[in-house]
Amino acid sequence: AHPRVSVLGLGAMGAVLAGTLLAAGHPTTVWNRTHGRADTLRAAGAIEATSPAEAVSAADVVIVCLFDHASVHQTLDPIATHLAGTDLVNLTTTTPEQARELAAWSETHGIHHLDGGIMSVPEMIGHAGSEILYSGSPEVFGRRQDLLAHWGASTYLGPDAGRASLEDLAILSGMYVMFAGFLHGAAMVASAGVGAVEFAGRAAPFLAAMTGGLGGLAETVDARSYAAPGQQSLDFSDLSHIVRASAEAGVSTEAVQMVQNLITRQRDAGFGTEGFARIYESITDTTSRS
Ligand code: NDP
Repeated sequence: AHPRVSVLGLGAMGAVLAGTLLAAGHPTTVWNRTHGRADTLRAAGAIEATSPAEAVSAADVVIVCLFDHASVHQTLDPIATHLAGTDLVNLTTTTPEQARELAAWSETHGIHHLDGGIMSVPEMIGHAGSEILYSGSPEVFGRRQDLLAHWGASTYLGPDAGRASLEDLAILSGMYVMFAGFLHGAAMVASAGVGAVEFAGRAAPFLAAMTGGLGGLAETVDARSYAAPGQQSLDFSDLSHIVRASAEAGVSTEAVQMVQNLITRQRDAGFGTEGFARIYESITDTTSRS
């Protein structure tokens, strides 16, 4: 028999998570703070609860996808006793410390907690390419693996409840800094009248190809082999010309200057001939920050 699920939070993401489980045959109860967001799900067979307590009362698994950590506590604190003994899967984006705090809170109340980081947009859920990272209770992950699989690939990263969030936010760091770098480039070429769409046509294939270099950087960092031959040196990676070209184009230099600062700290410390991956040391050594 399909476990009975309750989904708390029917925003863009929560509604799709609920709809996917419903379509897979799970008896699904839904709740949302603001009334009126459950109509489509109700038409598809979901039960709409009028309160969080009512929503979780008959559930084997409670899925939470709210705005932030505070909204999770606002919703769950008053119903802690109702949640005792149930499996709680929190897919709300929080920091690792907040996820660990929720794990401790859950333990206090006899709730089995699994935390997740969704590496997908709502349109991807249930389709190829969708992935969710999990950490926390290995029992919940083991018991609910079939249910979780309806949303996409599930990767379990261990019992530290903060780990999924940590990796989620770490991957997003890479995405945002790359996006910022791309938009910086678009602003530079705009000074020559080049549209961002035309620029994207040339930049996207190059940036996609460059992600092939991440594994090599990673091996260098893990081995701390910055001095091994064959790497692009920090001296060669100097971004002064890019900083200057940005200024000449009349745009803010801060996006590229940030990387230049990481390079400069290592060159100033005498490592200019070593590989570019050495900026990792600028990032991890917060005492040398200028
Ligand atoms: P939405 O803004 O669409 O929905 C937010 C939901 O949180 C709504 O159901 C809202 O209820 C509810 N909510 C907000 N504050 C409270 C509160 N104090 N008490 C109770 N309910 C509250 O966000 P998403 O659905 O897009 O995102 C939900 C979570 O999923 C976020 O943590 C987000 O980071 C994460 N996520 C989203 C992705 C996306 O692409 N959308 C991708 C990966 C993760 P109400 O309708 O009453 O306002």
